[in-house]
Amino acid sequence: MPPDFLARQMERLLTHWANLPETLSRLRDAKRSLLHHYPEIFDGLDPETTDDMILHVQNLLRAAWESPDARSRDWFIFKARLNYKKHLEIQRASSSPIGNDLRQFIPKGALFNLEQLQIWGKLLETEPYIWMAPPEKPPAQTQFEQVMSHFQGIGNKAAHCKYSECPWPYFFRKRNNQQYCHQKCAAAAQREAKRRWWHENKNRVRRKSK
Ligand SMILES: [Zn+2]
Repeated sequence: MPPDFLARQMERLLTHWANLPETLSRLRDAKRSLLHHYPEIFDGLDPETTDDMILHVQNLLRAAWESPDARSRDWFIFKARLNYKKHLEIQRASSSPIGNDLRQFIPKGALFNLEQLQIWGKLLETEPYIWMAPPEKPPAQTQFEQVMSHFQGIGNKAAHCKYSECPWPYFFRKRNNQQYCHQKCAAAAQREAKRRWWHENKNRVRRKSK
């Protein structure tokens, strides 16, 4: 378990990322601040293509946040990890002079054919062995990977603020029954509920008080 300050730092990054705003100019500012605050996650990435990855990961983080259970949440976190890893690979391949040429030689799809193996076996009069390359290992333990593992560990605290106007709705609960990200949102939601109640009941109340 990482020390508290490190855990808080990781949770801040996750909420920052999930809460990136939806309008273009606000998104640009928030993204700049994201890149600035977490150089260990974004340094060395090509700014031209990183936008796409940032938005994809944001979409997946939100899906993880809104997930009804751990199975679904872990799936979206896994997809976010895969997306980040692919982004690094594509970038590496396109910055390497031989990368683009080599990729076309990597076989896609089926690695072996059982019928063909049987024919070979008959020809060679031997029982053929089935062999597959072992699956690819998980990526290196980067900072991003650490953050995502942490998210999987505390996923049951991921919550969406109940105040509909909350500017920063994705948060981690500190108490089990916490419904609002902050006292300010709880107070604002209460004021709104009172206003709504008054609006719906004012005629009746006024009639009564006459
Ligand atoms: Zn809120």
